[in-house]
Amino acid sequence: MTSPVWHPFTQHGLGEPIPKVASASGAVLTTVDGREVIDAISSWWVTTHGHNHPRISAAIAEQAGKLDQIIFAGWTHEPAEEVAAELVRITPPKLTRVFFSDSGSTAVEVALKMALGYWLHRGEPRHRILVLEHSYHGDTIGAMSVGARGVYNQAYAPLLFDVGTIPYPTDIQATLDTLEAECRAGAAAFIVEPLVLGAGGMLFYAAETLAAMREICAAHGVLFIADEVMTGWGRTGTIFACDQAGVVPDILCLSKGLTGGAVPLAVTLATEAIFQAHWSETDRSKQFFHSSSYTANPIACAAAAANLAIWREEPVQARIDALAERQRAHLATIAGRDAVRNPRALGTIAAFELGAGQDYLSDLGPRLLAHFRERDLLVRPMGNSIYVMPPYSITPEQLARIWGGIDEAIARFGS
Ligand SMILES: *Cc1c(COP(=O)(O)O)cnc(C)c1O
Repeated sequence: MTSPVWHPFTQHGLGEPIPKVASASGAVLTTVDGREVIDAISSWWVTTHGHNHPRISAAIAEQAGKLDQIIFAGWTHEPAEEVAAELVRITPPKLTRVFFSDSGSTAVEVALKMALGYWLHRGEPRHRILVLEHSYHGDTIGAMSVGARGVYNQAYAPLLFDVGTIPYPTDIQATLDTLEAECRAGAAAFIVEPLVLGAGGMLFYAAETLAAMREICAAHGVLFIADEVMTGWGRTGTIFACDQAGVVPDILCLSKGLTGGAVPLAVTLATEAIFQAHWSETDRSKQFFHSSSYTANPIACAAAAANLAIWREEPVQARIDALAERQRAHLATIAGRDAVRNPRALGTIAAFELGAGQDYLSDLGPRLLAHFRERDLLVRPMGNSIYVMPPYSITPEQLARIWGGIDEAIARFGS
């Protein structure tokens, strides 16, 4: 009997082995047959402090014994209040309101609905959404609509709504001019991944460009949505990528590392003006019409509260700085190889292309996956783009093993 499980982003027809994991600790995953695999991608960018951080695991266990779930429409609980207050404290003062949901995609859907609600309730309906070329914001219909079109969503293309696409800043002036023209024409919002376009292939751009884009939006009253679902929680070297550009968004989406990567939770933070546009003493039709069954689930919120406590009380920034330095050093050792293109590092992220171009369906993809699997490394290249984004608790020896596997991959496939 084969397994009935249908896996995400997996071509079952290739018949590749699907390792079964029994437990995890720090940067190490242990399979049911006792193999120890090093997690080089933080289990798809979520695990920040390492797997099964004792404080997060304890918080989950304790909360599970107290209050498992409660409707959040018209009700509240302490873990949600604590998380919201702390998020407002650590983000820019302009962000005063916190809306909970349960994944990065829903955080983005919520952001888009907030933006449209804001314009409608101001009596000036606007619907056009501006996006950056090569972006990724999730896999639901709305989130796909504001993301790059390609092989991953071509089947659904007829259902995706129209957006204004701003060119990725290779030619910065062209990017800013297009954004300016689109804003002038009257858009509702511009959604952007700050500093790093993650699923688009770990493409970086300058903090100055992010700041300039934010300024253009502000000048035209176009809402600026920062999708920090991947970049948040220290990935780019600072707790939030926007901090490096001095950018304060109108709406901020967070998920992935919000619970340290232990359980699903997301938030969409908004300015007081956006909240107030939905506020009325008499008109119930202005309330924000969005919910999911598990909005602000108490167990997930307890995990997020523990994550926030870790950020307050443990030397997280020092761990990130040390990891960033080691990543840069490892990258430097391969940067001069012939087959290595566009080596780049930002914070805890290091990436490069193996061979020319950037192609998600490159034949190299499955061969690289097998190469790393054989070496008990969880490295998951996007086509021929290889990146390393480990948990901050990874040891220098574990990190060296990952880069050793990469070195061998370059020797094996890079010609
Ligand atoms: C992963 C990701 C999302 C989607 O988050 P899910 O939790 O997978 O729905 C949205 N935006 C960005 C930038 C992401 O990296």
